[in-house]
Amino acid sequence: MTAQRHPDAPVLVVGSGLAGWSVVREFRKLDTTTPVLMVTADAGDFYAKPALSNALVQGKAPGQLVTTSAEKMVATLGVTLLQHTQVSAVDVVGQEVQTSKGAFAYRQLVLATGARPIRLSFAGNATHDVMSVNSLGDYATFRDKLVAGARVLVMGAGLIGCEFANDLAASGYAVQVVDPGAEPLSALLPQAASADLRTALSALGVQWHLGTTVQAVDRAGHELVVTLANGQSTTTDVVLSAVGLRADIGLAQAAGLEVDRGVLVDINLQSSASHVYALGDNTQYVGSSVGGLSRTLPYVMPIMHAAKALAHTLAGTPTEVRFPLMPVAIKTPAMPLVVAPPSPGLAGQWQSTAIGVWHFVDAEAQVRGFVLSGAQTARRAEHTRLVVH
Ligand SMILES: Cc1cc2nc3c(=O)[nH]c(=O)nc-3n(C[C@H](O)[C@H](O)[C@H](O)COP(=O)(O)OP(=O)(O)OC[C@H]3O[C@@H](n4cnc5c(N)ncnc54)[C@H](O)[C@@H]3O)c2cc1C
Repeated sequence: MTAQRHPDAPVLVVGSGLAGWSVVREFRKLDTTTPVLMVTADAGDFYAKPALSNALVQGKAPGQLVTTSAEKMVATLGVTLLQHTQVSAVDVVGQEVQTSKGAFAYRQLVLATGARPIRLSFAGNATHDVMSVNSLGDYATFRDKLVAGARVLVMGAGLIGCEFANDLAASGYAVQVVDPGAEPLSALLPQAASADLRTALSALGVQWHLGTTVQAVDRAGHELVVTLANGQSTTTDVVLSAVGLRADIGLAQAAGLEVDRGVLVDINLQSSASHVYALGDNTQYVGSSVGGLSRTLPYVMPIMHAAKALAHTLAGTPTEVRFPLMPVAIKTPAMPLVVAPPSPGLAGQWQSTAIGVWHFVDAEAQVRGFVLSGAQTARRAEHTRLVVH
């Protein structure tokens, strides 16, 4: 490990999402005196991003999703915050970052830059009208477009697409969903659970275009015409793309850090450069923390575990992160779901063990994952204990 060039410089955190703020909060529990500088491209207000996909039905305006203002976070945690400031480059040798407000040295650097929505390319004169929601600002823009009774076409029937479809339909909007899969959430659920989810969302009025993709989006007067790969076309007022997120690795890559589908970090959350760490949606965890695999974990619970471990490391006690099994609750009230997917590539099959319960079982008959639906979601702890992780 190279020496710390600027031992009196702050711990510098890039990004004020759940990852950035969580690591600062955990660090302050251990160290109240070391200066912390957070640099963020947005306003720095603290909010729970998962709330973006179930806020409409609760009538929540963007401001109401902010649980703690940036000002209050700064006062409570004793940090310096540079809002609306882009970090444009990292010099891992000189140990400083370049920003739109000048250069800043760091003793340790934490990259918590999150992920960006994947933008699929397709034809048409209105592709710029296709929206994504991955921030409070996006939610504000999206909500402004939703006049009473608006029609919304959601691209993608994954976790976020299904959550928005449920929220929109329950809020009185006319929803269509387009997805190449045969059923919603087909990458995460056994076929029978996916079919149940489709039925539950259909009962709210959601219309499906499955087994196809969007080929073109064109404006025709006040409405958008969406042409599908299966030759059909449909009209809508708003198109929401929920086809997935891609880790924001540009800064790390330009700095010469090792990256793949995320910034690669070891079991101590250290990147390939000394004194540079990463966690959150921009990160790909490698090694025993993820069962010897190499995985992105773009969910809340991994961030909580990573933030705790990294805080200890930043405070002087190198600490390995250990991720337990972390089931994810899918916010589709039409059919609540809790999913603990098996590790990617693991051989096995889904077995239905009771109404609303599916276990993923390997060749040795060991339970390696589960899906719970409806009332069974209350039994998440019991099923978590059954899983060989
Ligand atoms: C609609 C939706 C619903 C979700 N629901 C769930 C759920 O139910 N359960 C669950 O576990 N997970 C859910 N997730 C995922 C979860 O919200 C994310 O894993 C988590 O919020 C990611 O936090 P983050 O801090 O890593 O990234 P982000 O929140 O994306 O934060 C990144 C930060 O980095 C800043 N930044 C980026 N680049 C720069 C730069 N160059 N310079 C300065 N600042 C920069 C940004 O401004 C931002 O402040 C959901 C996600 C979405 C979008």
